[in-house]
Amino acid sequence: MTSAIYWFRQDLRLLDNPALNRAIENVSALLPVYCLPQQERNVWLAQRVGQHRQAFLHQAVTGLKKQLRSSGSDLLSLSGNAVTALIELATKLHIQDIFCEDIAAPEEQAEIDALRRAGLRVTTVWQSSLLDPVDLPFSMDQLPPVFTRFRHDVEKAQCLPPPPLPAPTKLPPLPDMALSGWDQNTPSLVACEEPRSAFPYHLAAYNGSELAGLAHVKQYFESDLPQRYKLTRNGLIGTDYSTKFSPWLATGALSARHLFVHLRQHERQFGANDSTYWIWFELLWRDYFRFLHLQYGSALYRPNGLAPSASSNKHSVIRFQRWCEGNTGEPLVDAGMRELAASGYMSNRMRQIVASYLVHDLGCDYRAGAAWFEHQLVDYDPYSNQGNWLYGAGLGTDPRGGRRFNPDKQTREHDADGLYRARWSTP
Ligand SMILES: Cc1cc2nc3c(=O)[nH]c(=O)nc-3n(C[C@H](O)[C@H](O)[C@H](O)COP(=O)(O)OP(=O)(O)OC[C@H]3O[C@@H](n4cnc5c(N)ncnc54)[C@H](O)[C@@H]3O)c2cc1C
Repeated sequence: MTSAIYWFRQDLRLLDNPALNRAIENVSALLPVYCLPQQERNVWLAQRVGQHRQAFLHQAVTGLKKQLRSSGSDLLSLSGNAVTALIELATKLHIQDIFCEDIAAPEEQAEIDALRRAGLRVTTVWQSSLLDPVDLPFSMDQLPPVFTRFRHDVEKAQCLPPPPLPAPTKLPPLPDMALSGWDQNTPSLVACEEPRSAFPYHLAAYNGSELAGLAHVKQYFESDLPQRYKLTRNGLIGTDYSTKFSPWLATGALSARHLFVHLRQHERQFGANDSTYWIWFELLWRDYFRFLHLQYGSALYRPNGLAPSASSNKHSVIRFQRWCEGNTGEPLVDAGMRELAASGYMSNRMRQIVASYLVHDLGCDYRAGAAWFEHQLVDYDPYSNQGNWLYGAGLGTDPRGGRRFNPDKQTREHDADGLYRARWSTP
């Protein structure tokens, strides 16, 4: 009979959570814990978690706590440094085992190393990708360096995601005295009401909880939007041009494998076409950046990424600041940066345009841009963020990355009527 801590990280859900299931199978008492993100500044002077991400995360954690309570358990939220807080908690409760998901990004790996060095037994389970790495037709050190080849190899081998696990109906009881003596008041955070937002998370339908995420998936695949996804995905305005799954995927409130089941159901009911295929295609991009982390780890975070030599860019704090403020003088880029600051979200097309502008036009360090996105995005995800920034800067594995997006051409192709620039002409 053992007691353990389940540490929720980027997996704030009960449905399809293999790491949580592993814990449930192995213990007699379980204390679910979430560590609130710390608010230190990074080397680029951006606070790690800005107001939008904080508020969206708060919604996810509040929803999770409610679900855990209705399954006979609860959620303890800890503040301060996650490693220190977990060690203190485990010591106080005489617990030796921690279960959690595996995250292949360097800071998250360092947390696990530190817990193990402190004598805790930490069981990690890889679970955030659509495909299981063990099902891939190549070993991780043979991961194709170019996305297209990765996708072809996966499709040729007919590699499919494992079926999602059901949510546990009942959770083990809490260890004795687990919640007494701990401050249970998480600061309440108000979602910013931004009526122009393409991801209006202040509305119930876009709330960060798992239940709102599941409802969004259901209504999205019951609509005809997936039938047109490939034609609309480069849109800039509104909630419907793309799936808007990313914020829930990033907190882990949704599992990619659950999405896949609904995608296939939609195809059976409404028919498969280029657009429904393209949703799978984009989810494979998400996996590809995860697998690159499994292969290269901290090398992806070097100043020159995976490139053999350093970039010739000379970072400018002033140019970077102007970019963050939406004050570069390039109207499309400035509109995008205002959208990001006001709403915590930005379309994929605009992310590509503003990232290219920072690196290729303003000559700044890609890591500063990645840090600003980490601060702002409600869907911040270390794998997709680092992977896309490296790809755009031409410092990843794929030689076709690193192309400059010409702002004039992008404006003509994506905002010819000026509606997007007008919408975000003010902060
Ligand atoms: C510089 C830059 C930084 C980015 N940072 C992030 C990030 O921190 N978190 C994040 O989730 N995405 C990031 N992306 C990828 C992409 O822009 C978002 O996933 C997408 O815009 C989210 O909206 P959606 O869910 O409506 O996407 P859809 O177009 O509907 O796509 C469906 C899903 O496919 C996946 N996907 C789509 N495009 C990509 C892509 N290029 N890379 C990886 N996965 C993708 C996402 O999980 C997305 O939810 C970044 C892209 C760029 C260019």
